[in-house]
Amino acid sequence: MFPLQESQLRHISQPPLFDLKEGDGYKAIPKWPWFVFLSGAMGCLVCSSVSHLFACHSRRFNLFFWRLDYAGISLMIVCSFFAPIYYAFFCHPYSCLFYLASISVLGVLAIITLLSPTLSTARYRNFRASLFLAMGFSGVIPAAHAVSLHWGHPHIFVALGYEVVMAFLYAAGAAFYTSRIPERWKPGAFDIAGHSHQIFHVFVVLAALAHSVATLVIMDFRRESATCAY
Ligand SMILES: [Zn+2]
Repeated sequence: MFPLQESQLRHISQPPLFDLKEGDGYKAIPKWPWFVFLSGAMGCLVCSSVSHLFACHSRRFNLFFWRLDYAGISLMIVCSFFAPIYYAFFCHPYSCLFYLASISVLGVLAIITLLSPTLSTARYRNFRASLFLAMGFSGVIPAAHAVSLHWGHPHIFVALGYEVVMAFLYAAGAAFYTSRIPERWKPGAFDIAGHSHQIFHVFVVLAALAHSVATLVIMDFRRESATCAY
């Protein structure tokens, strides 16, 4: 419907971002939302690494570290919202503030919930997966709003494509997590490697990569239209 021009494709495929100065035909834009995302993603990986490394210490620490593992993923999901919302609603400060405040409140509530000892038990496995998915898919509302605001800009459609890939990756990770495939088919065979929790983490990392590409495309779009002249 909106075929990409060759120049636009070239532009998207060559993310300039941090090395171009204002005056090269680009506008300078604040970079802190991008670093919020990177910090959240790295914080999530640190939480997961620490949790998996020390969970075998004792039963008491085991329960604590598994809660930290889930809280880290919530942290990354919340931080993922900052950059796309900030850049997509750069010229609409009230919408920007509303969406960022909403996801922050939702995220803090989710992290508090996930850190509670009761909800870390196996009984609440589906509840935890639903919480992750609800947080992730709450992004549909600002995404639909952003597409309607910037309808016709190729960057927005490219970014949306990557966000859809991200959503599928998160959903696939959650599906492995809740179904406990493949260890349910052959108990004991995947205790060291290849069990559902590991597959779930791999999907979370892939989703973060898809999201980072989407964010870079939106930043590129914003650098071209930072003056809000439309
Ligand atoms: Zn884990």
